[in-house]
Amino acid sequence: MKKCLIFIDGEQVKESLDLIEVCRKLYPERIVETYAVSNKWIDPESLKGIDHTFRIDGDRIKEYDTRNLAYCISKIQDEYQFDSILIPATWIGRMLAPRLSILLQTGLTADVTEIQAENDQILLVRPAYSGRMMASIKPVGNGPVMMSVRANVFHNEISDDHKGDLIPFSYNCDQICGIREMGSFKKEKSYDIRESKVLISGGGGVIHNFEKLEELAQLLNGQVAASRKIVDKGIAPRYLQVGQSGKTVSPKLYFAFGISGAIQHIEGLKNVETVIAVNSSINAPICSIADLVVEGDACQCIELLLSRIRQYKEKNNSRS
Ligand SMILES: Cc1cc2nc3c(=O)[nH]c(=O)nc-3n(C[C@H](O)[C@H](O)[C@H](O)COP(=O)(O)OP(=O)(O)OC[C@H]3O[C@@H](n4cnc5c(N)ncnc54)[C@H](O)[C@@H]3O)c2cc1C
Repeated sequence: MKKCLIFIDGEQVKESLDLIEVCRKLYPERIVETYAVSNKWIDPESLKGIDHTFRIDGDRIKEYDTRNLAYCISKIQDEYQFDSILIPATWIGRMLAPRLSILLQTGLTADVTEIQAENDQILLVRPAYSGRMMASIKPVGNGPVMMSVRANVFHNEISDDHKGDLIPFSYNCDQICGIREMGSFKKEKSYDIRESKVLISGGGGVIHNFEKLEELAQLLNGQVAASRKIVDKGIAPRYLQVGQSGKTVSPKLYFAFGISGAIQHIEGLKNVETVIAVNSSINAPICSIADLVVEGDACQCIELLLSRIRQYKEKNNSRS
C-alpha cells in the first residue's frame, strides 16, 4: 500500500483532483491511499476519489499564506510519512512546493508532464532548457517523492463516488502570518481556454489581423487562443497563451493560424485531438504535427472560411 498526499488548490479543485490519476500512474501495481490537504475549507463531498481529507484546526493559517501552510504540511508529513506529495503547478502550488521541499529536505521535480513507473522505479518527466528537451528525473533518497504537476496534462477519468473521511489536524503555528489582507475585489471575467472544445489560435503570421479570429471563433462556437508572440506584443492577454509558459489545452479541434509551432508552443498541445495548421511555409514545425495543413496566407484563409461558413449557415437557416 502506498500513501499519497495531494494538495488541493481551493481555487482550482478540479485540476487538483486530476492528480489522483498521477497517484495511479506512480504506483500502477499497488493499492494507493489518497489524502488531501487544502488552503481553503472544502467539503469532502466534493472531493470524490480522495480517501482522507485533513481539516486543519489553527487560526494562524490564512488562505494565501504558503509559508505557514508549508510548515503545517511538513508536520502532517512527519506524522503520516507519505510516499509521495503531489502539488498542482497553479500559482499557489508553485509558491508552496519549493517551501515544503526545503522544510522536508527532499528533492522537488517541478512542472511534471509525464510519469514512467514500473516495479516501483519512478521516472518523472518535465520540459528542460526552455522546452527544447524533456528531462527524465529519478527521485532518490528516503524522503517522499515530491512534485508539482502541470495542469490539464493528466485527467482523472475514473468516476469514483466513494466519500472519504475527515482527519482533524491541530496545528498551533508559532509563526505570525506574513499576509495582510488589504481588500478584495472580483476577478475580471475571463474564459478558460482549457475548457474549450474548439480553439482558433493565432501567431506571428496574423499579427496585424488577430481580431479576425474572434469572428471565426463565434461562428464555430469556439474561443480564441494565441502564441506567446501575440501575447508579448500586447495584442492578446496572457490567459489566452498556449504553450509551456502558457496553458496546456485539450480541445477537439485546434486551428493554428500563422503559428510556427516552436517547441514551447507544441508543449501546450499534448491533448489536442485534431490540429489544422494554416501557414505560408510548409516547412514550419507545426505542419509536421498537424492533421491537416493549409499552405498559404492565413488572413485569406480566414476570410474564405468566414464567407463559406456564413453561406452555409444562411442556406441551412432558409431551409428550416
Ligand atoms: C522559456 C520560453 C518559454 C516559451 N513559452 C512559450 C509558450 O508558452 N507559448 C508560445 O507560443 N511560445 C513560447 N515561447 C516562444 C517560442 O519559442 C516562439 O518564439 C513563439 O511560439 C513564436 O510564435 P509564433 O510561432 O506565433 O511566431 P513566429 O515565430 O513569428 O512564426 C510565425 C509563423 O507564421 C507563418 N506566417 C507568416 N506570415 C504568414 C501568413 N501571412 N500566413 C500564414 N502564415 C504566416 C510563418 O511561416 C511562421 O511559421 C517560449 C520561449 C521561451 C524561451
